[in-house]
Amino acid sequence: MRKFEDTYRHKGLRKKLMDLLREKGITDEAVLSAMNNIPRHFFLDTALDNIAYEDRAFPISDGQTISQPYTVAYQTQLLQVKPHEKILEIGTGSIYQATVLAEMGAKVFTIERQKNLFEKTKQYVFKSQYHNLKFFYGDGFEGLPTFGPFDKVIITAAAPFVPPKLIAQLKTNGKMIIPVDDEDGEHQRMLRLTKNADGSYSEEAFHNFSFVPMLKGKSN
Ligand code: SAH
Repeated sequence: MRKFEDTYRHKGLRKKLMDLLREKGITDEAVLSAMNNIPRHFFLDTALDNIAYEDRAFPISDGQTISQPYTVAYQTQLLQVKPHEKILEIGTGSIYQATVLAEMGAKVFTIERQKNLFEKTKQYVFKSQYHNLKFFYGDGFEGLPTFGPFDKVIITAAAPFVPPKLIAQLKTNGKMIIPVDDEDGEHQRMLRLTKNADGSYSEEAFHNFSFVPMLKGKSN
């Protein structure tokens, strides 16, 4: 059984990472405080313990990745999270991003399409701490119609297009943060969509990022 320890060294490295995120332009103190409270090394293989606080993405299992801290901070800042908001996340992966949202006091519903990764959520280290975080095995393109509508939606994989069912599950004035493939499919443009009262949405465009693909259907 793995022992989880958050040492002074880890805490020190984490604080330095928050300073770096500030330098890179992250200004939302609620985001930085949540990330400073969460031991990112708990979400990675013990072999990566020494480098867990570098601003890098890392492989987890099943060919997937834990997003770069800057990307997590950037998407979370764009999401403008308020306590008690209902947030749907597509792409649970390592559960790090979902934990940041739960730490900020949101009610988090997160979906993963890969069975192995979903099964791992049963050993989630913070199970007793975050009762506001719920895990689902399913296809993110479908969302969670029975749990919606949501105040916010965050997609943490490269979307080929804006999934219409996820727009349908947003409240009016609700926001979606979504990295959408550019023409060559190599990068994604980060978009913030705001749903209008008539069901359409307006769009703001931000920087380019690089995510693993959002894939259709579930996988065993
Ligand atoms: N939020 C994660 C990032 C994981 S990478 C973290 O903090 O670690 C993206 C994840 O999206 C992968 O685990 C991948 O399996 C998952 N994914 C891809 N397409 C999906 C879909 N259609 N529905 C749900 N999850 C999906």
